[in-house]
Amino acid sequence: MGLFKKQLHGIHVDYCKNTMECKTEIMPVPGRIYISMVQHIGAPCIPLVAPGDLVKVGQPIGDTDAYVSAPIHSSASGKVVAIEDIMSLLGTKDKMVVIETDGLQTMWEGLSPPKAETREDFLKAVRASGIVGLGGAAFPTHVKYNPKNIEEVKILIINGAECEPYITSDYRTMLESTKHVINGARLIMKYLDLEKTYIGIESNKPKAIAAIKEEIGDDSSIEVITLKSQYPQGAERVLIYEVTGRPLPPGKLPADIGVLVSNVSTVSFISRYFKTGMPVMRKRITVDGNAVTTPKNLYAPIGALISDVIAFCGGYKKVPRKIIMGGPMMGRAIYDDKKPLIKNNNAILAFDELQTLEQPETACIRCGRCVASCPLDLMPTYIAKAYEVEDVEELKKLKVTICMECGCCTYVCPAKKQLALINRLAKKMVIEGGAAK
Ligand code: SF4
Ligand code: SF4
Repeated sequence: MGLFKKQLHGIHVDYCKNTMECKTEIMPVPGRIYISMVQHIGAPCIPLVAPGDLVKVGQPIGDTDAYVSAPIHSSASGKVVAIEDIMSLLGTKDKMVVIETDGLQTMWEGLSPPKAETREDFLKAVRASGIVGLGGAAFPTHVKYNPKNIEEVKILIINGAECEPYITSDYRTMLESTKHVINGARLIMKYLDLEKTYIGIESNKPKAIAAIKEEIGDDSSIEVITLKSQYPQGAERVLIYEVTGRPLPPGKLPADIGVLVSNVSTVSFISRYFKTGMPVMRKRITVDGNAVTTPKNLYAPIGALISDVIAFCGGYKKVPRKIIMGGPMMGRAIYDDKKPLIKNNNAILAFDELQTLEQPETACIRCGRCVASCPLDLMPTYIAKAYEVEDVEELKKLKVTICMECGCCTYVCPAKKQLALINRLAKKMVIEGGAAK
């Protein structure tokens, strides 16, 4: 069983990109914001402020000495009224800073564009900006840009695929922040000594392709690669293969095969930060779904409650049965809308009962569609069987740990088996040595 076939599999989904033509609106800062100290993969931040402190826009309010981390900044001016625990989407208890905002949006005096001469200066500035992977992974960007073998890395791949249904925030970034995308690519190439940038964009976004190509002009160091409109073109492994033809072996990082991958919004942010010195304090997101009154793209302040974001979109027009942070394929359902927005949220979707009707699971009919759809050539039906009997060795042989939980197998299964979910649990079983089912 090879990791890749000559042509990668995947599926055609109904893209439902209803908000493609919706220009990004700026959401006003609500009366209270709730800024979580866990907004990235790695060590949580420790609050730098206490109840009673006054804070300003862009002021650091959380940080840690740990390398794999990124500071957290205030998205509003106002008064810290509490440091509270919050239950995260993953079920962990995280600290959050609660700020009563004053409506003045006074800027922190410490804001200024960074000056960088060397790669080290650049990486230090990237960390100070608080940026993490904005495409969903939330991996601290300064760590991603500093692999051990950086001298061997020569290619930057910018992910502009945005293949998840409904989400159009990256698309709006490519249209509304085109100069920042290209300038960001040039900054990254300059400081990390890279030779070439490829920007992968799906063919169903011709306006974005045209805008980016026009901005590139005759700069041969940056090239747009038009990708087939097929889910999951934006998954890192798939994107690298589609752009360079290089398979990423299990257990390897993109840097091991000479590439660095960054989301288009992350790259655009880096350019803006080097121009303004304003750290991550707001996020461009898509709000959509048939339970939302007016679907939009908007800049929402980090720490705004989902309920406040929905209110800015006219509120619910139907009773929401399912609210998802992220896309319908890989996002996470949330159990209430009093959760705050964090850095890597790129969409909020709310659907009514009809749209989320669950169909009963039936017996596997051995049609093989799950195998045929898997972009990584995995065998979800065999994985499900091995998981059922807790056969960890078999799960390892079936390479379950490389499953990226893209959901293609679940989507195509006529028996309505929750294959991606089973894979997630099976991965956990392998990682924990078979201890937990
Ligand atoms: S969820 Fe995993 S097994 Fe299923 S299609 Fe995606 S990568 Fe393959
Ligand atoms: S797609 Fe579903 S029904 Fe078909 S082989 Fe896979 S698990 Fe069985």
